[in-house]
Amino acid sequence: MTQAVLIDGKLIAALKRQNIKQHVSQTFHAFGRKPSLHVILVGDHPASQLYVQNKQAACHEVGIDSCVHKLSENMVEDGVLDLIKGLNQDPGVHGILLQLPLPNAFNRQRLLNEINPAKDVDGLHPYNLGRLISGDPLMVPCTPLGCLELIQSVCPDLRGKHALVVGRSILVGKPMAMLLTNNDVTVTLAHSSTVNLKQLCQQADILVTAIGQPRFITADFIKPGAIVIDVGINRDGSTEEKASVVGDVDRESVQKVAGYVTPVPGGVGPMTIACLLSNTVRAMTVQIADAI
Ligand code: NDP
Repeated sequence: MTQAVLIDGKLIAALKRQNIKQHVSQTFHAFGRKPSLHVILVGDHPASQLYVQNKQAACHEVGIDSCVHKLSENMVEDGVLDLIKGLNQDPGVHGILLQLPLPNAFNRQRLLNEINPAKDVDGLHPYNLGRLISGDPLMVPCTPLGCLELIQSVCPDLRGKHALVVGRSILVGKPMAMLLTNNDVTVTLAHSSTVNLKQLCQQADILVTAIGQPRFITADFIKPGAIVIDVGINRDGSTEEKASVVGDVDRESVQKVAGYVTPVPGGVGPMTIACLLSNTVRAMTVQIADAI
């Protein structure tokens, strides 16, 4: 029995970071400039703190300046809004990222709406989502962008393929569906009210799953030879000490049917961060071009 090929997101992301580092040093450092990313972290969500640390380390590796604004969850929403307004005005700030999720008391959309779209490196401002729909994107959300690059690493010509995206969040599912559509893929977007999910999955050349349900997608969902991209990050295990991270895909069984599978960890996660770096570089480039 053949086994699916693992798409090594860790390696592909490392190569991408290497290219970014070279580009940053040749294009910006040579002129005494550095791209700069500002991350706003509200509250002390443990996973978010770890993600922010990883983002800072990645920035450091490629020569991007990074700054984290750690705010108490007791801060009033208008205080966060004022911080965003200040960063928008500061020409030394090229990228602004509001780390999600926010504590319940905060209105995520109100804050995202305030970020200057040219500095919106997470691509979640309605202007950027609109540009994505128009087929002329400015900033594309990092996770779907990373997924697309992983898919293209094993299938450069996507024309005419059929993809099923499971999950319709603004962060992953919806922009993923739009990105694939823009690349000539025929896309079905599924969610928790979808009927016959398994049968739909069985027709997909490309399956992207972002539902947050541990090992939900099993071998019987998979079309033989399909490309399976597992976005899910789920804690598995009965006790905190034993908890490990698993995806939405039951990789052990799915590997026996699929052509390609991304692992969790080491698949989509590292690509999300690498795409944040490339978006920050893009943001700086756009801002310099706009200023000329
Ligand atoms: P959300 O909770 O915002 O969205 C989950 C989506 O999955 C919803 O659209 C929901 O449907 C759908 N869904 C849930 N259960 C089912 C089901 N049984 N069948 C079909 N659809 C279902 O999550 P996110 O999009 O923010 O994240 C999804 C997962 O991806 C999480 O595990 C998250 O941790 C991970 N993630 C990983 C990233 C990475 O870099 N690797 C980055 C971002 C997220 P409905 O809309 O009907 O409720």
